[in-house]
Amino acid sequence: MNETIVTKFGGSSLASSEQFQKVKNIIMSNKNRRYVVPSAPGRRNSKDYKITDLLYLCNAHVNSGIAFDDVFKLIEDRYKGIVVDLGLDFDISTPLNKVKEDIANGASSDYAASRGEYLNGLILAEYLGFEFIDAAEVIVFDEGGNFNHELTKKAISTRLKDTKCAVIPGFYGADTNGEIVTFSRGGSDVTGSLVASGVDAKLYENWTDVSGFLMADPRIVNNPKTIKEITYKELRELSYMGASVLHEEAIFPVKEANIPIRIKNTNRPEDEGTLIVSDVHDLSTLGTITGIAGKKNFSVIAIEKALMNSELGFCRKILSILEMYGVSFENMPSGIDTVSLVIEDSQLKGKGEKIVEEIKKQCNPDFIEIHPHMAVIATVGKGMASAPGIAAKLFNALSKEDINIKMIDQGSSEMNILVGINTDDFEKAVNLIYNAFNN
Ligand code: ASP
Repeated sequence: MNETIVTKFGGSSLASSEQFQKVKNIIMSNKNRRYVVPSAPGRRNSKDYKITDLLYLCNAHVNSGIAFDDVFKLIEDRYKGIVVDLGLDFDISTPLNKVKEDIANGASSDYAASRGEYLNGLILAEYLGFEFIDAAEVIVFDEGGNFNHELTKKAISTRLKDTKCAVIPGFYGADTNGEIVTFSRGGSDVTGSLVASGVDAKLYENWTDVSGFLMADPRIVNNPKTIKEITYKELRELSYMGASVLHEEAIFPVKEANIPIRIKNTNRPEDEGTLIVSDVHDLSTLGTITGIAGKKNFSVIAIEKALMNSELGFCRKILSILEMYGVSFENMPSGIDTVSLVIEDSQLKGKGEKIVEEIKKQCNPDFIEIHPHMAVIATVGKGMASAPGIAAKLFNALSKEDINIKMIDQGSSEMNILVGINTDDFEKAVNLIYNAFNN
């Protein structure tokens, strides 16, 4: 059975020689950690720079005809410092000089930015004693700069078939002309996921500076619990509602291949982290929730019309008006004679009154009003499906503190209950829901 683990380390995990040492300990503690995908060095503290940002800056200087030596010096110092501190007998000056020369000669911004991962990969491969494989060899883009998943998958599996251990830098690949192309920012997550799917790994480990996903935003809930296990679907619901998690792009290759992802903390490797899986058949989650997320700045257009349920095409007309104004809605809970449209404020800007007028004209409602200043909270969990009492618990928690619920929506998957409340109640409501399910 394939026991291979692909490990991706984020920028903060490789920001200094101390972090490199932690990474080496992690890799060496499990021989199945055969393929390593590094990011470029990130910030060592809140005042520090990310190498990728500095590389973009060098490129911008060249494009504006400004000298970039001072900025490049910061990059050089960082890499040279790491090599010296690790006691490596490794010539990083030659590749650094080449990068500097290429940037000075007008190399693309994608090329410049990608060198952060490239140089870090060279050092890490040397330090671990692993083979270095340039991502330009295995991550394939077409001439138009579009990523080609099929060719990439083939290139990775062929190239790594007989390679025992390797470092493959994250964030970039090359097009069919050999030009470097990067993913969007944070794209090393995508590379890690592609390598995992290309070698059909047993597990994709994503090492960062947090011990997994939290059940709620720690800026709102004091010391929330870590989510031990979460499905891709739940993750999608939570990230859609504002919880910052992995890129959608980063998830699809492993999701498709049914490979779980484990989020781990380089600074606390003993912590279990969060496991992301396709499906959980764990009955112990029944009746529990997985996480809470929410967003502010919504408005609701509330519409009422007697006998709406029997009026053919009523909702279609409303939706075509939204389409005409280029507005998309988040939810559309409805009753027998009522329908509400939950819309992000940014979408409605300058259009709200016009949309209301148009609905009045075309649909002749008995009542229509915009309620601004709303927040939506999503309570998500696969354990909610077919478990009675979850909604009651949630609504009780809010009603006990007099929080008025303006909108309720439960997806047909029964995995998500959305409530709309006044924005001023947002933080309090998140805490009440969290406490209702955790005490
Ligand atoms: N270094 C790149 C960035 O800062 C990619 C990554 O870290 O994943 O966006």
